[in-house]
Amino acid sequence: MRLPLALCALALVLVPSAVGQQAAVVVIDPGHDLRANSDTEPIGPGSATRKIKDGGGTSGVVSGLREAELTMRVSLRLRTLLEAAGVRVVLTRARTAGTSMGNIGRARIANRAGAALFLRVHADGSTDSSARGTHTLYPALRRGWTDDVYAESRRAARVVQRDVRAALGFPDRGLQERSDFTGFNWADVPVILVELGFMTNPTEDRLLATTAYQRRAALGLCRGTLRFLGRSPSTCG
Ligand SMILES: [Zn+2]
Repeated sequence: MRLPLALCALALVLVPSAVGQQAAVVVIDPGHDLRANSDTEPIGPGSATRKIKDGGGTSGVVSGLREAELTMRVSLRLRTLLEAAGVRVVLTRARTAGTSMGNIGRARIANRAGAALFLRVHADGSTDSSARGTHTLYPALRRGWTDDVYAESRRAARVVQRDVRAALGFPDRGLQERSDFTGFNWADVPVILVELGFMTNPTEDRLLATTAYQRRAALGLCRGTLRFLGRSPSTCG
């Protein structure tokens, strides 16, 4: 009876990892909120350098849509997709209704949840209206702040950038390391920030303001997240 024994051994190997996968929590952070927050906070634990909590984000040059609302719409769609794939989701905010909590607060939500990924959803703005494309930011390596999450964050950025770019079809602006992001430096879990596209570019703004492109963005984020978690991206639909 060699086959059943082999199957038993296989089951023993597979069951613990399946249980581990089901416990995965993803914290989705829709960028900004209704109101900016000009209070300051240290950019990392123990740092004397302080930065404003939230400048308020950008808005659509044609659509007039606010970044805070675009990121909320995409994040709510993403939550639905991830939950349908069996991932537990925590949102840092579920409405665009208040003063932005700032970035230490957002990171603490992810830390407390023990997130497998802290996924920050943003859209970009520029004084140059021709600037366009999708890019993904992740923490630069700094001992004591990000050394525990650097490698996994970089891996997540690589995987998610590829899927979001493919889903939206915008130009590929690649990856960028940042040492000055408060929400990165306070994170004790893998963290990335996806800039879906430029709301100051008429083409990308028009597209991102549509339900179809918000669905595409959510789909790309879902696929990349599942791939990062070692799961099949096809579960996203
Ligand atoms: Zn933003």
